[in-house]
Amino acid sequence: MNTRLVKVRAADLDSEAGRKAIADAAAGIRAGGLVAFPTETVYGLGANGLDEDAVARIFVAKGRPQDNPLILHVAAPDEVRPLLKAVPARAERLMARFWPGPLTLVLPRSPLVPDVVTGGLDTVAVRLPDHPVARALIAAAGVPIAAPSANLSGRPSPTSADHVLADLGGRVEMVIDGGRTTVGVESTVLDVTTNPPAILRPGGVTREQLEEFLGAVAGPESPAPGATPGAKASAGVPAAVERPRAPGMKYTHYSPAASLMLFIGPPDLVVRTINERAAAEGREGRRVGILTVDEHLGAYQGGAATLLVSLGPADDGRAAATNLFGCLRAFDIQGVDVILAEGVDEAGIGLAVMNRLRKAATRVITVDWG
Ligand code: AMP
Ligand code: MG
Repeated sequence: MNTRLVKVRAADLDSEAGRKAIADAAAGIRAGGLVAFPTETVYGLGANGLDEDAVARIFVAKGRPQDNPLILHVAAPDEVRPLLKAVPARAERLMARFWPGPLTLVLPRSPLVPDVVTGGLDTVAVRLPDHPVARALIAAAGVPIAAPSANLSGRPSPTSADHVLADLGGRVEMVIDGGRTTVGVESTVLDVTTNPPAILRPGGVTREQLEEFLGAVAGPESPAPGATPGAKASAGVPAAVERPRAPGMKYTHYSPAASLMLFIGPPDLVVRTINERAAAEGREGRRVGILTVDEHLGAYQGGAATLLVSLGPADDGRAAATNLFGCLRAFDIQGVDVILAEGVDEAGIGLAVMNRLRKAATRVITVDWG
């Protein structure tokens, strides 16, 4: 299949070319096609969320396990009503406070939502994205758009149209290039069916923000590092596993081709340990990449690494989130064999960054003085 790439920035939405591109994309969605589009978090791979066959094509294009449910995206809060059994007052308040934005709500679903969207669960995940191009597309399509991240399953999520094309070129009808995404990590998934609500996946809305608004919030459970044996996307659905609350969380995620070792501990010691490890890996003939922060770049210069990549200033969690997936892809483009990554502070959005790093890691190494 030929993948059509069209550039639509927020400023283009008022132009004739921009309107035509959105109208074409919306027609593609209504006709059962796949359209990748920018949101404020990461790029999504969209299909008509009420069309079983179209949604099924998402799983094929991504190589996504069928029991990993999808988020339905809407263009206005009221559009969730037909998708849900009811809208509890607490959900209404969350929508009023955090929508549009990177918060996904899990709620009991209505019969309108096809099983293929929810993996057979009796709940559905819904979100109103804060990106003018995404909202224009959903509004023009006139249907909720089911959209997981627009990467091959298991790979780092895409934060630019280039990332989407690298993974899904030739597999989808259209890619809308809306520039780089701003938040950079996926939405926070919040289960509103429990009391207190539970964070199933940390993301763009922080636990601190939710706690301040709701009082108490449960979760998230910290992810086990690295690949779940048998749960690689290509291996399909693993046999005889219990059904977790957030089905997607058991699969390998966000993984660059290189193996990633994540180092956690006092910054000075982490830097020293990574330098030693880089030297050891280099002696074995492996090409080493180091993922660090601006302040530590100098400490690695002249060392054994072939590629140094910075997430940004050490105290800027938002920058780390914005840059994370692009940094992981940069190592693959340079063909490094092993990535040595510094952990980041888990306050605020750092929790989401560390969640992705832990899942991308084949090993997590905690270091301490003494
Ligand atoms: P993605 O769109 O690839 O970023 O993944 C969507 C995330 O939302 C996955 O972790 C899913 O497991 C989670 N999710 C979607 N629908 C539900 C649901 N009904 N209940 C719990 N988690 C869900
Ligand atoms: Mg994803």
